[in-house]
Amino acid sequence: MTDVLLRGGRPWGVNGPADVLVRDGVIEVVAPSVEAPGARVVDVAGQLVLPGLVDAHCHLDKTLYGGPWVPHSADDTLAGRIGNDLARRGELGVPSVPRMVSLLRAMSSYGTTSVRSHTDIDPQTGLRGVEAVREAAAQVPVDVTQVAFPQHGLLTNPGTAELLEEALKSGVEAVGGLDPAGIDRDPVRHLDLIFGLADRYGAHVDIHLHDGGSLGAWEVELITERTRVLGLAGRVTISHAYALGQVDAAQAGKLAEGLAGAGVAVCTAAVYSFPVPPVKTLRAAGVTVACGHDGIRDLWGPFGSGDMLERAMHLAYRSTFRRDDDIELALEAATYGGARALGLRGYGLAPGDRADLVVVGASTPAEAVVVRPGRTLVMKDGIVLHN
Ligand SMILES: [Zn+2]
Repeated sequence: MTDVLLRGGRPWGVNGPADVLVRDGVIEVVAPSVEAPGARVVDVAGQLVLPGLVDAHCHLDKTLYGGPWVPHSADDTLAGRIGNDLARRGELGVPSVPRMVSLLRAMSSYGTTSVRSHTDIDPQTGLRGVEAVREAAAQVPVDVTQVAFPQHGLLTNPGTAELLEEALKSGVEAVGGLDPAGIDRDPVRHLDLIFGLADRYGAHVDIHLHDGGSLGAWEVELITERTRVLGLAGRVTISHAYALGQVDAAQAGKLAEGLAGAGVAVCTAAVYSFPVPPVKTLRAAGVTVACGHDGIRDLWGPFGSGDMLERAMHLAYRSTFRRDDDIELALEAATYGGARALGLRGYGLAPGDRADLVVVGASTPAEAVVVRPGRTLVMKDGIVLHN
């Protein structure tokens, strides 16, 4: 593998310009004026060097990306979207490996190097989605991990729990949940079931929690408590967590302290007008905040590009961030926060870290989020993919 020397960039978190020398897929040196005879030198003078972007929450198996435009046909209720998805997925060939490959290639071209995808598992689909995501992921240099996701209910959809267990046995990295109260109507049994699976198979937990207000806040407490009791710090994520964006500041602060103490991450997509968890409150308490697209051009909604800088912009905008250091928190969610939530090892820009990098034509992180310029270079495990 050829050594690569990125000359004169601005690595995020480093004061002043520095060179980045990559050897054998790993960052070897970050310093000014590095000499590396024989290395391929890429001039990135004045440009921002970031660790690879992390999409911590998407649904690759649902995507229609890369195919002909499909007018959105669901009504505006959750039940309407679920019904539309079930009714039309067969007709539209979902899950589709070629479409997932198209989407992963787009994500990679934007500098995403790691993805967590929630994959539908139910008695109708079985593990077909899991296998299709694996097949697509093998074709694109993006690290993809999956969440076995009971999109159509867990307790309310007999046979689903057994399939989640089969998915974990087959190597799926995380077990998902879905509104333990709002959808499944029995939060204690729902959470006991998925935390039991996580404990038995050493899996991560990532729960879709749309339940709002005091109901959702109570479920946040239940998840926090189970994580603490089972010692699963760093392995549990609450996705969406609308309730955190709805309760008052005092309660949000208290919940944030609990989440930080138990090691539970929060992942947001900041889509449409849905509530966004209070990023500054969570970060100030020490909670890991991650970011992802959620659906990308699928039967649930027509939006999404695969570009995590765009997603970070939406998060900053929805959070009413204007100051550079605030906007930077959104970029942190799309990079380091996602990496922590997913438990990625060797992530970052320090010597010894994996050389998953993206170079952006911007002078600062805030400018990168606001302007979202083209990516000058994307590198995965030391290999230059786009330049
Ligand atoms: Zn989702």
